[in-house]
Amino acid sequence: MKVFNKSFTHQEAIPEQGIAAALEVMRSGRLHRYNTADGEQSQVDLLELEFAAYLGVPYCLACASGGYALHVAMRAAGVQPGDKVLCNAFTLAPVPGAIHNSGAEPVLVETASDYCIDAPDLEYKAETSGAKYLLLSHMRGHIADMDRIMAICERHGLCLIEDCAHTMGASWKGRKSGTFGDVACFSTQTYKHLNAGEGGLLTTRDDSLMARAIICSGSYMLYARHAAAPPSQAFDNIRYQTPNFSGRMDNLRAAVLRPQLAELDRRCARWNRLHALIAATLAASPWVLMPARAPQEAYVASSVQFSLPGFSDAQLRRVVDACAGRGVVLKWFGEPEPQGYTSRYDSWRYLGDMPRLPQTEAVLHDLLDMRIPLTFSEDDCSLIASIIVDEVQAAAART
Ligand SMILES: *Cc1c(COP(=O)(O)O)cnc(C)c1O
Repeated sequence: MKVFNKSFTHQEAIPEQGIAAALEVMRSGRLHRYNTADGEQSQVDLLELEFAAYLGVPYCLACASGGYALHVAMRAAGVQPGDKVLCNAFTLAPVPGAIHNSGAEPVLVETASDYCIDAPDLEYKAETSGAKYLLLSHMRGHIADMDRIMAICERHGLCLIEDCAHTMGASWKGRKSGTFGDVACFSTQTYKHLNAGEGGLLTTRDDSLMARAIICSGSYMLYARHAAAPPSQAFDNIRYQTPNFSGRMDNLRAAVLRPQLAELDRRCARWNRLHALIAATLAASPWVLMPARAPQEAYVASSVQFSLPGFSDAQLRRVVDACAGRGVVLKWFGEPEPQGYTSRYDSWRYLGDMPRLPQTEAVLHDLLDMRIPLTFSEDDCSLIASIIVDEVQAAAART
């Protein structure tokens, strides 16, 4: 029996240019973003300018993590304690955590069979909950029909905060993910599309939102030093009215990220080649359901998701365990207890009593997920896919 023996958590090395830039920062001792020599632009300033240019928006703020960026984005967008924030029920734990951190109350929206937010349920809850904000997670890189989402936001006057942790580099109808909302957040944590260990990037076109975000991030009164930012007048009243929630990015992380950003589009193409290989093999199995993807969606598949409809808990467990036994690490979102990143809405009990979401439970019940690190080759991916298909077949035979 063939076994796969590489690690699913082994990312690529930092590019040599990033290592050299990081060494230079360390030799200078100027690790803090505002600790610059005369006339020097810090690594963080340069990263912000470069990421804003990549996305095609004027403003970018680098901060301590993606989850922190979401919290700051909500505060800067005007979320007040007690406000309601619409949000996908199928998302990762930092998302409800960020809403909770802002003092707001999440209104969880159902999940459609393509793993995206369910548009009819979103419309219904926008109408009935009184929420004025939508925190939209493009969860695991699946982009909902953005024309329809934007129409819902317009009809109900929703401020849109995009969580692009899995869509850095992706687009809808040629427009980059993160440019639809009033504000967008990205993560540069190790398992996302750029790796600085930790980190987050917030982007917007809105002057006063950006001014508030910069003050929130802990700029003290040094906001005029930001390059990818509105003019100083935008801070006139905001600087007295906005709390400092220190959470800046440092020059070391930015130095490591800049050469990776220059490589991002090539990386995304590699992810998609590996994903296409795996997806084609899985889709040929009669038991596997690959989600429908709209032709308008240009995704970045740094992970793969598929469903095994009709499989029982025992069969799903068998697939996960048998694959693990052969070195293939699958995560099961239907697992009764959260494992790793698969925590489900019913694990976020600090939120209080949440209404049941039967459609989300049904979709997550038979949803499997696998990371695709770029340290894998095309041959690795063929082997992985054949192991999964074998084990799915074996589990199907034992009803
Ligand atoms: C990773 C992630 C975030 C942010 O994560 P950090 O670890 O705080 O950078 C937010 N949303 C989703 C969906 C994520 O996967």
